[in-house]
Amino acid sequence: MDHRTPVRGAVPRVARTALPLLVLALLAPACSGGVEGKPGASGVRDPYFPKLGNGGYDVSHYAITLDVDPDEQRLRGSVEITARATQDLSSFNLDLAGLTVDSATVEGRPAAVNRAGDELTLRADAKAEDRLRRGETFRVVVRYSGSPKTITDPDGSEEGWLPTDDGAVALGEPTGSMAWFPGNHHPSDKAAYDLTVTVPKGLTAVSNGVLAGPPTTEKGRTTFRWHTAEPMASYLATLAVGRFETKTSTMAGGITVFTAVDPEVAKASARTVARVPEVVAWEAEHFGPYPFSATGAIVDREDDSGYALETQNRPFFPGPPSVGLLVHEMAHQWFGDSVTPKSWRDMWLNEGPATYAEWLWEEEKNGTPAEESFEDAYEDEDNWAFPPADPPSAAAVSDDPVYGRGAMVIHKIREAVDDDEEFFALLKGWTKAHRHGNASTADFTAYVEKETGQDLSGLWKAWLYGRSRPAADG
Ligand SMILES: [Zn+2]
Repeated sequence: MDHRTPVRGAVPRVARTALPLLVLALLAPACSGGVEGKPGASGVRDPYFPKLGNGGYDVSHYAITLDVDPDEQRLRGSVEITARATQDLSSFNLDLAGLTVDSATVEGRPAAVNRAGDELTLRADAKAEDRLRRGETFRVVVRYSGSPKTITDPDGSEEGWLPTDDGAVALGEPTGSMAWFPGNHHPSDKAAYDLTVTVPKGLTAVSNGVLAGPPTTEKGRTTFRWHTAEPMASYLATLAVGRFETKTSTMAGGITVFTAVDPEVAKASARTVARVPEVVAWEAEHFGPYPFSATGAIVDREDDSGYALETQNRPFFPGPPSVGLLVHEMAHQWFGDSVTPKSWRDMWLNEGPATYAEWLWEEEKNGTPAEESFEDAYEDEDNWAFPPADPPSAAAVSDDPVYGRGAMVIHKIREAVDDDEEFFALLKGWTKAHRHGNASTADFTAYVEKETGQDLSGLWKAWLYGRSRPAADG
């Protein structure tokens, strides 16, 4: 619990949210020109991470330019954010953890920046503030520099900026992306991205999407330009800097396959990484068309981070992945990356289906029925600590019940449907209905009931929300 407000502690949270804006309101009149605006909220009231994200605007595009010095673990950069105001704004916030803000502009005019912890409050000057009226599109540029920080999650895992032996990797679930660029860091605000990264010659900078052109080298430094056209939640943005063996190919459907593997683990990873197109195609058969124009994988050394992450287009693996892990992270491209949770309470909508994808793979490829995986998960005490749709705290959003019991919910739906063709049509319909959008648990349960025509309130009560373990056939 360093910079984040802990879980559901209503009193300190309200106080901390209100304070910076209160101070600001006292220091300056709320409105100096034509806009009778109000400050954009400093958080979007996520039930677990209330200060993540910001209210009053919707980002459509991030153009991030970074110069990375891996020896010193420093970076210098700028972000140009294109956003649309969803209210008349007198000021608005961006999330940024660590780093130093060197300057900021709104519509090319110098903007005042007030910083309180991870919250930047920007106020446009009188000539630019008309662009902050509801419905208007505005451009913000923030220049920043420093040593990006590693963030320790409530559950003790590390994210944000993670130094590696030969560079660094940026991982952002659930809050880490604010460690390397200012933005609206909540999964509910998805945007397109362009990332231009300059690193010492000999190193590679890998990110999401596709390369917008060949890398260029000048004065011993190489620049990589990555373009992500499809909407992306900021926690799925990544940057891996280091020595990588890269391969580019095209699979069926014209999808670009870009893989980047640390040479130290290249041999041990080769067989699994070569199966990326096969796994994507198999999952497309079960979950619907692959939602993105690019896929691939980033495989770094085993000591780089303790966990894999479904970074968009290109999952990150700390060391050679198993096929099961590849299946899991790739399934997230549908469940999590394309259909993104509305809040961190809905994390099981990511992890339940991704875990179930592993069970399905075992069933079809290795002859272990999903029923057997269900029984193993059912017998595992760790899966019964809390209901998957209601983790007790921010520290628990990545705990076993969200995965194992989340997958059990999907299995119970499959049993209720009692027809595999209909069951997979249901999954495909879900990924189609919310493609490139956001969805909540309530959206999911309503969708399943509507499509199946069944009242499944008993199933939700027992498996999704119930505190005790129901009978396995209940
Ligand atoms: Zn997962």
